[in-house]
This record gives sequence, structure tokens and C-alpha cells, in this order.
Amino acid sequence: MVDPAADSLAANLRQLVELDRSFGVGFVHRSPVPAISSAAAPAPVAGPRPATAIVAYAKPARPAPAPSATMPTPPPVPAPASGLPAADLAAVAAEAKTCERCGLCAKRLNAVPGEGDPGARLVFVGEGPGADEDAQGRPFIGRAGDLLTAMIGAMGFARSEVFICNVVKCRPPDNRLPERDEIAACLPYLHRQLLAIRPTVICTLGNTPLRALMEDEKLGITKLRGQRLEWRGIPLVPTFHPAYLLRNPPAKKPCWEDLKVVLAVMGREVPQKAN
Ligand code: URA
Repeated sequence: MVDPAADSLAANLRQLVELDRSFGVGFVHRSPVPAISSAAAPAPVAGPRPATAIVAYAKPARPAPAPSATMPTPPPVPAPASGLPAADLAAVAAEAKTCERCGLCAKRLNAVPGEGDPGARLVFVGEGPGADEDAQGRPFIGRAGDLLTAMIGAMGFARSEVFICNVVKCRPPDNRLPERDEIAACLPYLHRQLLAIRPTVICTLGNTPLRALMEDEKLGITKLRGQRLEWRGIPLVPTFHPAYLLRNPPAKKPCWEDLKVVLAVMGREVPQKAN
């Protein structure tokens, strides 16, 4: 008789091996992803952060987009309002949980503010929570989340070392795209999170966060993936959304090239076994 638990474990393992292969790495052991509450995370040492070297990297084949009228010159990134990223992130998380700024609050089970290291050098921004995330109040924990975790691992990071969040903090019903007014209502939370963390690089996943942060609905991931853009003085590299990669496995290869650009911006080597 087939044990359903063993069967599902085997399916998961097969999927993980497949993910690792897609990112050019051998089988990577992954322990369960620990929940990280921004509030509970240790506060970083106060004071200015050391300057981060941004190393030169291979010039992208495609030119970066010319600044448009909808992409104003960014002001310098201010320090977090409280002086402590963890405090500001906790404030955003608390507000998002009771937020009624748009209609998405009506059907949410849990708001999903984001999770990770308040001192993270790398922030991933997705679109919005799906059903699994809504049920648990944590970002990227479904199938797309497993793939994102594998991508982070292939880059040489633990999931707990980065910060992961979304443009909208509540689930759009039926997994539809968030609407313009919902994005506009929720965007200040994302801005506050990014200004609190001030990472070395932001990696946007798919069209929604690219367009929302660059404030240009005409931008497209196919043209801009892997380019070094900028949000308020912080380098921003767009790549495909993991859900798209699940539907289009051949896109994992160009995605890996984009993640190598992210590593280059961070001044990090590509992990040997992943190259
Ligand atoms: N897709 C997203 O964009 N975000 C999540 O948190 C999960 C799936």
C-alpha cells in the first residue's frame, strides 16, 4: 500500500532536485523555512552602515530605459523614521494587519506584510499573497515560494538572510492581479519597508513590482529583466516571477543570469557549485 505521506515527500524531493538542476546546482538540503517576525528579529547595531562597494559587472546587452516623465529623479534614501529598521518594519506589519485602505481587506484571512532580516542587503519584492500566504500570513510559502527559496539558496543565501515582501499585502481574490487603486493604497507600506531596510539591491519579481516601484505601467519584464535600474538611489534588478518560471521552465536560465547581476551588484561571488 502506498503511504500518502511518503508519496508526497518523494514528490517534494523530486521537485527540489528539479529546482536545483534548473539553477545549475547539485541537490541542496533545505531545512523547513523558519518563520521570522520582523518584530522579533534582533535589532541591527545603530549607526551608519559601512559603505557597500558596488562592483563592475558585465554590461547588459540591452540598454537601460531612458528616464521617462513618470520616472522622476529619485531623492536620496532617508534613514528609517525610528532609526531602527526592525522598529519601522514592525510598525508597517502592525498597520498592515488592520489596514482598510482598499477592498482587499474584506476577504483576507491574514495580511502578509513580509518577513526576513531587517538588516538584509537583498530584498525580493513579489506581487501579492496567494492562498497559502493568506492562510499563514507569510510571503512566498507555496510552490512559487519553494522555487524562490531555491533561487535564494542557489545565490548562496539562507532565506532568513534576505527580506521578502510584496507590492500588496492582502490577497487579491482568485489570484487576480492587484488593481491600480489597490496598488496605490498599499504602496506606501512597501516604500516604508524599503526605506527602513535600505538594502544594497532590490530584486523585483515579475511585472507588478517593477511597474509599481518604477511608477511606469508601460514597463515590461521581458525587456528589462537583468538590467540595473534604481529606486530612490537603491539598485533594482528585475527578474521573472517564480510562478512564471513554474509555468515556463526554460525561463529559469535567463532568470539565473539576472540573479548573477544581483550578486554582482552586491559584490558577491557566484557560488561555485551554482555557476
Ligand atoms: N506570489 C507573490 O507574488 N507573492 C507571494 O507571497 C506568493 C506568491
